[in-house]
Amino acid sequence: MRTHTRLVHYDPCPGDPWRPNTTPLYQTATFAGVSASESGVYDYTRSGNPTRDLLQRQVADLEGGGEGFAFSSGMAAIAAVTRLCQAGEHIICGRDIYGGTFRWLDSCAPRLGLEVTAIDAGDPEALAKALRPETRLVMVETPTNPLQEINDIEALAEVSRAHGAWFVVDGTLMSPYLQRPLDLGADVVLHSATKHLSGHGDCTAGVVVTRDAAIAERLAFQQNAEGTGLAPFESWLLLRGMKTLGVRLDREQVSAGRVAEFLSVHPLVTRVYYPGLEEHPGADVHRRQARGAGSLISFTTGDLKCSRRVVEETRLFTISVSFGSTSSSISLPACMSHASIPEEVRKTRALPGDLVRLSIGLEDPEDLIEDLARSLDEDASPHSKAWQRGQSQSGSIHASMPAPPSTET
Ligand code: PLP
Repeated sequence: MRTHTRLVHYDPCPGDPWRPNTTPLYQTATFAGVSASESGVYDYTRSGNPTRDLLQRQVADLEGGGEGFAFSSGMAAIAAVTRLCQAGEHIICGRDIYGGTFRWLDSCAPRLGLEVTAIDAGDPEALAKALRPETRLVMVETPTNPLQEINDIEALAEVSRAHGAWFVVDGTLMSPYLQRPLDLGADVVLHSATKHLSGHGDCTAGVVVTRDAAIAERLAFQQNAEGTGLAPFESWLLLRGMKTLGVRLDREQVSAGRVAEFLSVHPLVTRVYYPGLEEHPGADVHRRQARGAGSLISFTTGDLKCSRRVVEETRLFTISVSFGSTSSSISLPACMSHASIPEEVRKTRALPGDLVRLSIGLEDPEDLIEDLARSLDEDASPHSKAWQRGQSQSGSIHASMPAPPSTET
C-alpha cells in the first residue's frame, strides 16, 4: 500500500468483537482479570491499552516497520530514549536542536551521570572526531528546529554504527510522511507528535519507532516503569489526526514554497531558511533523504525590532511556540521555543535573535503572503496597529507579548 492509502486503511481494532470501522476509545485505567492469578491481554492502561497499541502499530507501520511507542509528549519520548544510556556513558547531539531537548541534555542528562557533547552534525567528520569509547547515543534533528539545517542520515548512521553507537533521528519537522530515517540506517526515529502527526494543535504526544528488538524491549520497560505512555484519549485524537497527515502536508508544503519564495526576494528579509529553496546549503542532501521540504520556514530581517514587529503584526499567524497545526503560526524562537538555551550558547550556535519562524497551515497562501507583506512593510510608529492594540489592552505594546522567560516551553 502507498502512504496515502496506508494512512486510512488499517484494522482499526484487531480482535474487537463489534468490528468497529474507527478505533474505539478504551477510556479505562484497568481491565478485569480472568482469575486471581491470571490477567487478560490487558490489565492496566499504564502497561498497555488497545487504543494506544493501535496507535503504536500505525506509527511503526508508517515508519516502514518495527515497534512503536507513544509517550505523553515529545520530551517524554526523548527522555525515554536517552535513558537507554547508563551512567558514565556519552551522548553526542547536533548543535541546532529544539530548546527543550537542549534543556534536557544540558541540565537533566548530566544528573543521570551522562555526558553530552554538541557538534556540527552537518559534518560527519565532526561526529567521527567527537566519538569516544563510551559514546552510546548520537542524536540529531533533520531538518533542525529552527535553523532548518540538514544532516545526512545515511552518513551519520554509518559513522555511528561503525563505532557501535545508536543513531537517533528526531524527524519532527518531516513526519514519517516525508522522511523515513529507519530506511536510511537510523536505529531509532522519534517525533514530537504534538506537531504534524496530530496536526490540529489539540494533543501533546511523542512517538518513538525502532526495528532493534533490544532497544524496543528497553523502551517498553521504560514506558511502563515510568508511566509515561500516552493516555487513551490522546492516543485516539492522534490516530484521528494522522489520517489526514498526507493531505495536510501536501497542501502546507506547496503553500510554504510560495511563502519562502516571496520572503527570499523581499527587501527587508536578509536570509530565508527553507530546504525547498535551491540556494539552501543542504537542499541536495535533503532531496535525497526526504520527499518534500515541509511547512516550516525561518527567516531573519537583520533587525530585532523589525522581526518582533512582524511577529506581532501578522493577523493570520498566531503567536505560538508550537507548529504543524491546521492554522499558521509565527514565533521568535530566541524568546520563545528556544529561550531555555542561554544567550551565550545561542551565540556559539549561530541562532540569531532576530530569527522568525513560520509554520504554514491550510489557509490560502495568497492571504498568508499578503499578511506577511503588510506586517513587514508596516511602519512601527505610534500609529501602528501593534501600538494601538497594546494601548487599548494594557497601555504597552510589550504587554501584548509575554516576556521571554514566561513563554519558555
Ligand atoms: N523535537 C522537536 C524538533 C520539537 O520541535 C519539539 C517541540 O517543539 C520537541 C521535540 C518536544 O516535543 P513536545 O513539545 O511534544 O514535548
